[in-house]
Amino acid sequence: MRPTRLLIILSITILIAQCGGPPPEPEAGLYAYVGATVIDGTGNPPVEDAVLVVRDGRIEALGSRADMPPPRTAAQVDVTGKTIIPGLINTHGHVGQTRGLVSGPEVYTKENVLSQLQLYARYGVTTVISLGGDGPEAIELRDAQDTAMLDRARIYVAGAVVEGATPAGATKVVDENVAAKADWIKIRVDDNLGSGRKMPANIYQAVIQRAHAKGLRVAAHLYYLADAKDLIEKEVDFIVHSVRDQAVDQELIDALVSNEICLCPTLTREVSAFVYESEPDFFKDPFFLKEADPAVLEQLKDPARQKGIQESKSAQQYKEALEMASANLKKLADNGVTIAFGTDSGPPARFQGYFEHMELELMVKAGLTPIQAIMSATGQAADCLSLHRVGTLAQGKWADMVVLNADPLADIKNTRTIDSVYIAGNKVPGK
Ligand SMILES: [Zn+2]
Repeated sequence: MRPTRLLIILSITILIAQCGGPPPEPEAGLYAYVGATVIDGTGNPPVEDAVLVVRDGRIEALGSRADMPPPRTAAQVDVTGKTIIPGLINTHGHVGQTRGLVSGPEVYTKENVLSQLQLYARYGVTTVISLGGDGPEAIELRDAQDTAMLDRARIYVAGAVVEGATPAGATKVVDENVAAKADWIKIRVDDNLGSGRKMPANIYQAVIQRAHAKGLRVAAHLYYLADAKDLIEKEVDFIVHSVRDQAVDQELIDALVSNEICLCPTLTREVSAFVYESEPDFFKDPFFLKEADPAVLEQLKDPARQKGIQESKSAQQYKEALEMASANLKKLADNGVTIAFGTDSGPPARFQGYFEHMELELMVKAGLTPIQAIMSATGQAADCLSLHRVGTLAQGKWADMVVLNADPLADIKNTRTIDSVYIAGNKVPGK
């Protein structure tokens, strides 16, 4: 026998003697993430020095190492010093409809939808609700995502945004979306700062009634307080922008709370309307630049384009709208309204992935605590959307999670310190 081989046998013998038996065979598909602080998205206090057990892509158990040692048959992943949060849920995005700064059906392909879901995933956004403009390509992807093989963001869709000049015309679009197997119905009740015609109340009422009769819920784009109240009166299910024309009042708060309607603020949507009037600070952020297309940045830095935005009345109005939206967010949250995190990212220059982290920062700037912002993007978002298998790191949920190098409760900007992202327990590949 060669001396090295003898040495190996000797070492194994010593190891067996030390452990009191041969080490058990690792079980396929069983992992234990050990040593991180875990914020599970349920609202429970963070678990320090945690053991997070994942089996076949789903959470099997979560506890502190002192109470719950990692299973001996699990492959261990050392995440000491890191913080794990559930994957972020964007309750208002748009997927596949833009390429560069071009938006429209000509760029809508399955490949484009998929590549944007991969982009969201790399940024830790593991579920996105695409609220309008969605084709069968997205529905096909949605129908293929309930698998432990998944490593891109999950998508749910609203299909075509419902429009129509008459109740019958609009309800026909609802029926088409139902037939296409959309998850949500999306309407817009807005005159775009007085420049367009708002959907009349009798039409949205007909849309809501038809959607409910077919078992779908309705998400409404809006701007004005009065419309928010009337939409709730007519039983809308989800409000997907901030009220921006005036301060929210007790009547709206009561209506939202008593009807258990969630509101999605989309503060970055406002930002995108005016921020390119000059070169934004985030054009220097490596976390942004790692995914940004330099050709798009060049277009956004074009002085003529910047001047157009500086001189645009609507852009400047949306700048004020951001202030109003931020104050309203704080007031709604303080008064018990459930806030569902969302950005309206996806249209040109609303950068998917990066804008979600900016949104969290803006929510905290508006006065929410970091844990409130994270809850709105995880457990709360899942509840608002009735997504039962994501949003928290609780037993039975998909292991959709983000491993961070720094604590987001100490500084919300630490959500940008992404070490790795997992979807159904699979590490999301880099670009
Ligand atoms: Zn939108």
